[in-house]
Amino acid sequence: MKAIKSFLPLAALVLCVPFLIAPGSSSDQTCSVPPHDNVADGSSHYGPGACNQERVNHWWAVFEMGESDWDSGFGYHDACNMDLPLARTFAAMYLLTYSAEDYATSTSDFSGNALRWAYPYTANNAGRTSALCFKPGSSPGQWAAWAYGSRMELYIPFFYNFDVAARAAALLHESRHNGGKSHNGGSTCSRGASCDTNWAYEGANMYEVLYLWWFGVDGTRTTSAIRNMGLNRARTVHDTAFNTNPGFNI
Ligand SMILES: [Zn+2]
Repeated sequence: MKAIKSFLPLAALVLCVPFLIAPGSSSDQTCSVPPHDNVADGSSHYGPGACNQERVNHWWAVFEMGESDWDSGFGYHDACNMDLPLARTFAAMYLLTYSAEDYATSTSDFSGNALRWAYPYTANNAGRTSALCFKPGSSPGQWAAWAYGSRMELYIPFFYNFDVAARAAALLHESRHNGGKSHNGGSTCSRGASCDTNWAYEGANMYEVLYLWWFGVDGTRTTSAIRNMGLNRARTVHDTAFNTNPGFNI
């Protein structure tokens, strides 16, 4: 990762210019930064923690991030600008990495509860993580993220429709797919896509809910408002993403 303090002053420009995907990508895509509220979605809280060279270097390596996957307006040249996708992703990575009081200091330490092991799990399974406007072949806005086995793509809804807690949990969700668990419930849950049969399957939806529930109850280095964002997202996924409602009271 290039030095985050030496970025070029392009922020004002890219905000009003469509994203342009780098030459050589699978499709030509354009998109722009939609309206968003960095305070209301919790992003601002993580700005100081995420804008840190050592941390950014760590995430950049762990998530196999590359310049060509994050330039063209996604933030490579402005990595601390919370209006751009890259900084919004780093904010989510900070939440995922540091929200346990005794957070894991090694990506090979899987001990403790979900609030603690979620980051090591994600770090070991995410694979190459890249930014696009939308999933190639789909309608813009249809998907927030997609896992391909050894890599994951993040799209505009991930960056701007999800609050920071939902973004963190989505990184875990996609990593669960890359860890070998696809959705097994077809489209018959109430949200109509990406359904898992039940809680016991321990799929991506279960990981997502479990993590957000722990975060909402016991998360540190955050605020009560952001913990509530996590609980609300946990309830939504709990209530809509399983063919058999797990029946918990979150
Ligand atoms: Zn999924």
